[in-house]
Amino acid sequence: MYRGRHSRRWSLYDRVGDTALSRNWVGPVRRSLIWAFMVVFALWIAGCAARSTPVAGEDAIPTLTPVALEPGQKLRVVASTSIVGDVVANVGGNLIDLTVLMEPGQDPHSYEPTAKDIAAISKAHVIFINGLSLEEGLERTIRAAADRGQPVIPVSAGVHVRELTPPGERGKSRPDPHTWFDPNNVIVWVDNIEHALSALDPNHAADYAAQADAYRQKLRDLDAYIREQVERIPPEHRKLVTDHLAFGYFADRYGFDVIGAVIPGFSTVAEPSASDLAKLSAQIREVGVPAIFVGNTTNPHMTEVLAKEVGVRVFSLYTGSLGKPGSGAETYIGMMKTDVDTIVKGLSSS
Ligand SMILES: [Zn+2]
Repeated sequence: MYRGRHSRRWSLYDRVGDTALSRNWVGPVRRSLIWAFMVVFALWIAGCAARSTPVAGEDAIPTLTPVALEPGQKLRVVASTSIVGDVVANVGGNLIDLTVLMEPGQDPHSYEPTAKDIAAISKAHVIFINGLSLEEGLERTIRAAADRGQPVIPVSAGVHVRELTPPGERGKSRPDPHTWFDPNNVIVWVDNIEHALSALDPNHAADYAAQADAYRQKLRDLDAYIREQVERIPPEHRKLVTDHLAFGYFADRYGFDVIGAVIPGFSTVAEPSASDLAKLSAQIREVGVPAIFVGNTTNPHMTEVLAKEVGVRVFSLYTGSLGKPGSGAETYIGMMKTDVDTIVKGLSSS
């Protein structure tokens, strides 16, 4: 759709070129200047369009209309990851009938839907996903639901997105999907979830608003907790090496440098080359980080081998999923506190 509009624009300028620019008084220099101006102008127009229209509607909130619920019937809600599920549960409370697809420990990048998931999705009044291409393995199923007219809400819509071109993917800039590593982004999630639930179930809008308000306050408290804890790490130690590039938003917010990652990309669905690993171990030695971190949803083997080689300790963090019941990381807030405590422990020692 976009590309279509783009090419129409170019053909319009082609026509202008044929008439006005073919006159004799336009010298070759002036002609090329006018062309350059028009190219810049056309690109500027295209750029404005790109910013104001979300690409293919994928990471935008669709228009929502109230669901005709029977008296006492709850909104049937599906959430993709355990983290999205916990935040949705906090806003929806017992007013919604929530199914969370991924269990603690499951990797959101590679997760493939089960038959039960597909059944739950097909009956859902609304589906909440992280968005920004986090759920690579769910993409086809989610897209099919959206095509059937079911509302799909990417909770990260409206977050200020980090972009990166991972090494080995030259020229392909990708959005960083790990928005939850800054609690201020999760406040945006809460806004989106509150908006969607209230639009679909307006009779309970006041309850959703109250529950969202209470949770937003807890997220602000979490942000304050993290800022306070990070102060305990000597500034020269505020450096992160992780299994994949999951901590960009955290680093931006709390003043860390991301030195690198074993898998040098935003996804776990990739493998590092021998030269990537050699480069990373050289960087770790050069920068002198005291510890490196591995996520709970990836195979720790490669990270452990690397740590042994360069002589640093490995600590485990919760990245794409909550912890099991009793772990202390079974909620989003508990998971963030557990991770921050581990990072402080790992980087405070020398
Ligand atoms: Zn990840």
